[in-house]
Amino acid sequence: MSSDIWQFSQRAAALQSSAIREILKVTELPNVISFAGGLPSPNTFPIEKIKHAVDIIMDSDEAFSALQYGPTEGYTPLREWVKNQINQRENTHYTTDNVLIVTGSQQALDLIGKALIDNGTKVLVETPTYLGGLQTFTQYAPHYVSIASDEQGLDPDKLSDDDAKAANFLYTIPNFQNPTGRRLSAERRKKLAQKAIKNNLLMIEDDPYGELDYQGHRLPSLISFAPENTVYLGSFSKILAPGMRLGYVVGPESFIRKLVQLKQAADLHTPSYTQHIAYQVVKEGYLASHIPTIRELYKTRCEFMLTQLEKYMPKTVRWTKPEGGMFIWVELPEHIDTTVLLAEAIKHNVAFVPGETFFATNPKRNCLRLAFVTVPEERIEKGIQILADLIK
Ligand code: PMP
Repeated sequence: MSSDIWQFSQRAAALQSSAIREILKVTELPNVISFAGGLPSPNTFPIEKIKHAVDIIMDSDEAFSALQYGPTEGYTPLREWVKNQINQRENTHYTTDNVLIVTGSQQALDLIGKALIDNGTKVLVETPTYLGGLQTFTQYAPHYVSIASDEQGLDPDKLSDDDAKAANFLYTIPNFQNPTGRRLSAERRKKLAQKAIKNNLLMIEDDPYGELDYQGHRLPSLISFAPENTVYLGSFSKILAPGMRLGYVVGPESFIRKLVQLKQAADLHTPSYTQHIAYQVVKEGYLASHIPTIRELYKTRCEFMLTQLEKYMPKTVRWTKPEGGMFIWVELPEHIDTTVLLAEAIKHNVAFVPGETFFATNPKRNCLRLAFVTVPEERIEKGIQILADLIK
């Protein structure tokens, strides 16, 4: 065996593939009941609508620009659409220059990491938080400070003025958070925004699940309380299709300009093709009828899983009761390590994501995340029954 002829950079060498990811590879097998994936339900993908949009574009002169290189900032009509949506919804006054289209909001997280994190930069994260956010930021070696959250989401009283002043930004997911499914209460949004303004703290508001509010009662976003202190990330992944890899950033113009420079170096621009398709799909208000169908499906699945948890789990187990989104967070008795439980569960063809991966610091080992939207009801029941038996 010859040794590698390359030497990885220190940054690349420091990356570790997660043991849990290795275990979870088996979840792709058809006989596994997987509550592990964070995938939207494919039944919500508007295939006919997308097909029709492609036909319209390809049958017109728009085909040339849809297949050509485009500006790094994104396709202007789509940026305008985003700006209008946000201004109407949040009562803000953004212009198109405040909007950057990105290749999924995951790219926005990476560009933000590059823009804001040096070795040891203080970064505040609610805890637990999105694993993909942690993975991205960790490449740039921040010093994480975890801010505790409870049933109402991140607790602003647990964020000290000293930390708020010293940190370069706070990363937060106020709506139906990944992994807990919790939503930040209206009162806390206001309080957090006030704290950010008082301490000159930048907030990165990651909002891929905001539209998946089962009752359709959106709470105002952090940008509506503190637009100068907030960079907002939106995504088409959960309302159209994640394979299109389309997201957007809305924020102060000078911040957007810096991200544009970084994005230019990363991939020149988000694919013109998917931007044109998405714009063609959404421009006449299609989402107003499409999103309620997604909410209805997810609400039904969520309620079904909650009923099964109630039916089968021992009294010592607790879980969140989401009002939107795709995840339920389960807390087991302290002595149960969910990574050990996962190995057992997989032997019985059931999978979930152990909670420890969602902590930047001091991981809790007795929690797990359940995703319910891609699993049919009879399999949800069977899977929860198996998990409950293992826990007992
Ligand atoms: N942020 C959060 C909280 C997520 O859960 C996800 C995807 N699961 C992303 C960002 C990335 O989404 P996108 O598909 O827009 O890159």
